[in-house]
Amino acid sequence: MEIIGVDKHFGPQHVLKNCSLNVAQGETVVLIGPSGSGKSTLLRCINLLEPVQGGSIFFRNKDITHASVEPHKLRQDIGMVFQNYELFSHLTAAENIMLAPMTVLGVSRSEAEAQALELLGKVRIPDKADSFPDELSGGQQQRVAIARALAMKPKLMLFDEPTSALDPEMIREVLDVMTDLSAEGMTSIVVTHEMGFAKRAANQIVFMENGEIIENATGEKFFGGDVSLRAQRFLDQIL
Ligand code: ADP
Ligand code: MG
Repeated sequence: MEIIGVDKHFGPQHVLKNCSLNVAQGETVVLIGPSGSGKSTLLRCINLLEPVQGGSIFFRNKDITHASVEPHKLRQDIGMVFQNYELFSHLTAAENIMLAPMTVLGVSRSEAEAQALELLGKVRIPDKADSFPDELSGGQQQRVAIARALAMKPKLMLFDEPTSALDPEMIREVLDVMTDLSAEGMTSIVVTHEMGFAKRAANQIVFMENGEIIENATGEKFFGGDVSLRAQRFLDQIL
């Protein structure tokens, strides 16, 4: 993915200012920055949930900001996981995962079910296929949400603060699953302030402030202390 000079306004407010970012296939990019800096908006623009007013976003060599691109088609290739895992409460974990492959891709029930069981294994809850969301912990529900996104075989995963609504003891189990995905080469952009995850999984760390990408560093450089004063000040606050 290549984000080139993206501008986004909400009315008079300039929310993304000339933002550029390259994400190579297989990379994990961790996006950090203060609340209100534009992290979620950037993810939403990548997924065409928000239009941009300037710049381009290339995904697999195609400018997705072009009017000919159909958002729902694009979103089949981009999985998104939010802070609040909104699973369908009347469906079991397996059924939540099976739904989109069956309805959008036309996969057979038996095939979708086999895939759901495999994905539940991958997110380390192989025994929860028949559980309903309210029978699962927050961390387990979030892992079902990840499995549900993976069921569409996305080329890119977007995570927007996936652990910030979870109790501390559940954060690790979700981050472990995300670390596995990164290690397997799933291209991911992750908004998180979990710096342990960033250290383990990030190829790039991007610091946003006030709608601008202030800094873009390799994990090595970033954790080696070679960061701007503004990024360091932010880190001092969250660590
Ligand atoms: P972050 O995710 O970094 O906390 P956001 O991308 O959510 O930041 O928000 C960036 C700025 O855009 C904030 O000032 C926020 O109030 C504003 N904003 C976000 N979404 C909307 C919207 N739908 N309408 C108007 N303003 C918005
Ligand atoms: Mg946000």
